[in-house]
Amino acid sequence: MNELILIKYGEIALKGLNKGSFEDILLRNIRWRMRDMGHFKLRKAQSTIYLEPSDCDTFDFEEAIDRLTKIFGIASISRALVVEKTLAAVLREVCAYLELQLSMVRTFKVETRRSDKQFPMKSPEISAEVGGEILSHFPGIKVDVHNPELIVNVEIRDFGAYIHAGSIAGAGGMPVSSSGKAMILISGGLDSPVAAYMMAKRGLALEAIHFVSPPYTSDRALQKVETLCEKLVPYTGSIKFHCVPFTEIQEAIKEHCPEELFTVIMRRLMMKIATTICKESDIKALVTGESLAQVASQTLDALYCTDNSTDLVVLRPLIGMDKTEIIKIAYQIDTYETSILPYEDCCTVFTPRHPRTKPKLYFVEKAESGFDFAPLLEQAVRDTVCKTITL
Ligand code: ATP
Ligand code: MG
Repeated sequence: MNELILIKYGEIALKGLNKGSFEDILLRNIRWRMRDMGHFKLRKAQSTIYLEPSDCDTFDFEEAIDRLTKIFGIASISRALVVEKTLAAVLREVCAYLELQLSMVRTFKVETRRSDKQFPMKSPEISAEVGGEILSHFPGIKVDVHNPELIVNVEIRDFGAYIHAGSIAGAGGMPVSSSGKAMILISGGLDSPVAAYMMAKRGLALEAIHFVSPPYTSDRALQKVETLCEKLVPYTGSIKFHCVPFTEIQEAIKEHCPEELFTVIMRRLMMKIATTICKESDIKALVTGESLAQVASQTLDALYCTDNSTDLVVLRPLIGMDKTEIIKIAYQIDTYETSILPYEDCCTVFTPRHPRTKPKLYFVEKAESGFDFAPLLEQAVRDTVCKTITL
């Protein structure tokens, strides 16, 4: 039996002249994710990628499909039987190939797509013939064109005819790295991993930056963030992870700045350090998990002060989302259970009792200028430890 996986893409198909470069990035990402899955061929034609294992008997189709569902840029995935491009071949194989599925339903319909217009029969004619063949093999079953329990798909394409019982939804979006690269400010919380996932979905490759304040924050808290990155890698690809020592900076803010401005100043200094690190690798955007009005540091006035500390683009994909919507995605990408582990983040160290919800930039800058943070910031950049988190 000769099976393959048909991978169809969504938005890329709408691209114009540069469609080819998006396809190549998607092919590269698929190849990377499948690199330990044995021998297979990938080819593209008609807005579809054909993944053809060299040995169908040993190839782990389920594992492959599970991995493909996490690769952005893919709209749908179908495991299909390849047959010779003749009606006789389709009729000969269809009942045996889909026997299990057909024996479990009472109603079905056949849908035929004929992208090879040279094929001598039209789609409805093919569907009628295939439907007749199925009815004669499975007497208990009926055709229901409006609400069938099973759709039998026949695709007449360039290289052959393909039979399958439907497709699984892909992750959608754009292939990772087709939009460039950004730096996610990742904490151990619920929001920032979801923000990372959402921007990867729009085609950004990611590096991650995390601020630690030992001894106020523990090794377990750092390990938790690395685990979150590991959970993101199937979607994002490898992540270069920057761990920034932040203790002295936080202590200096506490000592030299007004308590009610602690959080906004801390956030600005995080942005400044992240910006310096981004500029070393020509990264043009920061991503955060902020959501408007969720907490005092995420009011419009506070975000205005934060944005003013960087000249990079600041992407906040969760800005208009409720916590319940964010949690739903956290479940879906399996970061929820890790995120709710109760370890301290540096943001919860020295939290002011009454943070200013409407900080004014003028006063924030004035408060910051009372102490020369520059040497501490430079030192933190120098002491940043990097590693690559991959599969
Ligand atoms: P999260 O759920 O991502 O922790 P949050 O709602 O708890 O977000 P804050 O703690 O105020 O909000 O943090 C806002 C954003 O600042 C985070 O989403 C993240 O992007 C960034 N951030 C917070 N703490 C850290 C940290 N220790 N290292 C890196 N980035 C951080
Ligand atoms: Mg947090």
